[in-house]
Amino acid sequence: MTVVTDVEQQDLASPNVPCVTLVVPVFNEQDAIGPFLDQIEQLLKTMHDVAHFDIVFVNDGSRDGTELAIRSCMSPDRAISLVNLSRNFGKEAALWAGLKYATGDAVIPIDVDLQDDPTIIPEMIAKWRAGAQIVNARRSDRSSDTWIKRVTAQGFYRVFNAVADQPIPQDVGDFRLLDRQVVDVLCTLSERVRLNKALFGWVGFPTEEVLFERHQRSAGVSTFSYWRLWNMALDGIFASTTKPLRIWTYIGSSLALLSFVYAGYLFLRTLVFGVDVPGYASTVVLILLFGGLNLFAVGILGEYIGRILTEVRDRPLYVVRNAYLHQEPDT
Ligand code: UDP
Ligand code: MG
Repeated sequence: MTVVTDVEQQDLASPNVPCVTLVVPVFNEQDAIGPFLDQIEQLLKTMHDVAHFDIVFVNDGSRDGTELAIRSCMSPDRAISLVNLSRNFGKEAALWAGLKYATGDAVIPIDVDLQDDPTIIPEMIAKWRAGAQIVNARRSDRSSDTWIKRVTAQGFYRVFNAVADQPIPQDVGDFRLLDRQVVDVLCTLSERVRLNKALFGWVGFPTEEVLFERHQRSAGVSTFSYWRLWNMALDGIFASTTKPLRIWTYIGSSLALLSFVYAGYLFLRTLVFGVDVPGYASTVVLILLFGGLNLFAVGILGEYIGRILTEVRDRPLYVVRNAYLHQEPDT
């Protein structure tokens, strides 16, 4: 007699039902865990014939009761895993850790604060089943953001897409569906300086889009200060293009050409009108101009050299303290 395990029985009952892993990075979110799981589990129940789900929380060094809140929700019948990082490594690293632990046929990174509206997950899955390997969730409006955040975000997309080798779609965050093949490729990109959404765009693959409205946070406060966002933007740009380095070749050669022309003019003028003593202002202006340009160019070099140092040091992007992984029955 052959023994049929629960998992096989599940598969027999519903062949072709794929598994989808939700990856949820969390940092000091003790009050957001409950509402998130309530809403998600309600939704997932209605999708039982479409996909099986499991959730991987990555606790990014929370200092409040986040770990306890998650562990109190874990039980053998709830497909929830928890990966605790040894300290706060930042959302980019936490998300990458989650991708490494995700086992689903598709993976959806999602924020715990319900700002990434889970009700569009069925639509994402439908587009994935229809052939798309990445399904972006694009914010149809950013009214939940302050005007300054909207303006700075728009500025970032403008600048990034003007200089980066591979543009990123406007108003798409980390919330998106990634096919297993895409996740496997992403897991091979081990660069330290990273902006995940730039990498998501870089890998290519057939991509579709779903619109959603971004709501206010369910609980707690955002931990992304403008300074942190600015540094993320710089990391994203400098990791995605070398144009800021190359542009100095053109600026330098144009200025050198202009200097030759100006030198020729001065030479001729001196020949015709003799030695001209005044000239302090123009000399100082030129010294300041070239001094400033030099420092700026050195600064750009520094941005890249600092990042090269980070890469060659080759430290891991995150450190796992411990992990509680959900085990499928009989596996
Ligand atoms: N987050 C994280 N590590 C951090 C900061 C944030 O894992 O260092 C998580 C956070 O718990 C949330 C998600 O990343 O699930 C988005 O963070 P937040 O809501 O603060 O960002 P915002 O929505 O303001 O961009
Ligand atoms: Mg948020």
